[in-house]
Amino acid sequence: MEPNPETAAVVQLIFQLAATGIGAAAVTRELFKRGIPTPGEYKAAHGQQYHDVSRSRGRWSSSTVLRILEDERYIGSYVIGRRAVIEVGGTRSRKKDRDKWFIIPDHHPAIVDKELFEKVQAVQRRFSLPTKKTREYPLKGKVYCGCCDHALSRIAQKRPFYMCRHSTADVNSRCRDVRADVAGLEEAVLLTLKKQLEILLPVHEDGTIHLEATAVKCSEYEKQLEVLKDQKQALFERYLLGQIELDTYKSEKAVYDAEILKVKNAYAAVTAQAKLKREEQARQSSRQEIVHSIVEADVLTSELTDLLIEKVYVFPDNRIEIVYKVHDLFE
Ligand SMILES: [Zn+2]
Repeated sequence: MEPNPETAAVVQLIFQLAATGIGAAAVTRELFKRGIPTPGEYKAAHGQQYHDVSRSRGRWSSSTVLRILEDERYIGSYVIGRRAVIEVGGTRSRKKDRDKWFIIPDHHPAIVDKELFEKVQAVQRRFSLPTKKTREYPLKGKVYCGCCDHALSRIAQKRPFYMCRHSTADVNSRCRDVRADVAGLEEAVLLTLKKQLEILLPVHEDGTIHLEATAVKCSEYEKQLEVLKDQKQALFERYLLGQIELDTYKSEKAVYDAEILKVKNAYAAVTAQAKLKREEQARQSSRQEIVHSIVEADVLTSELTDLLIEKVYVFPDNRIEIVYKVHDLFE
C-alpha cells in the first residue's frame, strides 16, 4: 500500500460516507455524483495498463466499495495470506477464509483511523443482516397451487406474494386466481398449526390414573407389612413369656415369613411398575413441552415447517390446506 495522498483522500471519503449509515450502493451513487474517478480510471489516467476501463467508466461498483470498506490495510495492518493461489505456480487466486489470515497491526501509517473503521464495520453488518434474513423464508419450496399441484412462484416485492405461473397463458384457468400474500400465508399456517396442536395439549389421562392406582397399592402393601411384622413380634413375645412351645413358634413364624415375603415381592413389582409409569409420563411431558413451544411461537420458523409441514396448498378462494409430515401427531 503506497501512501498516495490523492487515492488516500478517496478512501477516506468512502469510509466517511459509509459511516453515515448509507449502504454500499448509495456510496457508489454519491461517488459518481461527485465525479470521483474509479480505481480503473485513475490507473488509466496515470498511464497504467487496465483491462476494462471502458466497461466501468465512471461507475463505481458496490463490490469495489465493499472491498475497500473491509480492507484492514487502510488502518495500517499488514495482512498476510488473504488470497490463496489456485494452481501451483499459477497467478489465479481466491480469497481465503479470514481465520487463515495473519494480521500484523500498526505495520504502516493508517489512512483511516480505527474508530471510523470499526463504526463502518458495525453499520455495514447491520446492512447485510436483513437481506440474509429475508432470503430464509420458512415456507420455501412448500407452497403449491391447489388447482394444478405445481409449486407457486414467490414474487419478491415490497410485499412479496405467491402466484401460480403454470397456467398464466390460459385465460380460463382458475390458477390465475391463486395468489397469496407471503406474510399473510405464514401467519395463517402458524395459526392452523396452533389450532391442531391445542387438541394435543390435555395430559394423557391413562398415565395419571395408573400412577394414582399404583400409589394406593403401595400404601396398602406397606400397611399389610406393618401388620404382619407386628403379629410376628407378638408371636415371639408369646414364646418368650412361655405361652407357646418352640415348635409352635417356629411353624407359625414360618407362615408369617412366607406371607411377609409375598407382600414384599408384590410391593417391589408395583414399585417397578410405578417407575416405568413415571418414565412414560416424563416422555409424554417432554412431548407436551415441544407442543407448548409451538403453541407459544410468535412467528413461523423454518425449524417448525421443516419438522411438521410437507406442503401447503393455496386455492383460488384463499383457502389453504396443509399436508403434514408427521401424520400420527395429529391423528
Ligand atoms: Zn396452478
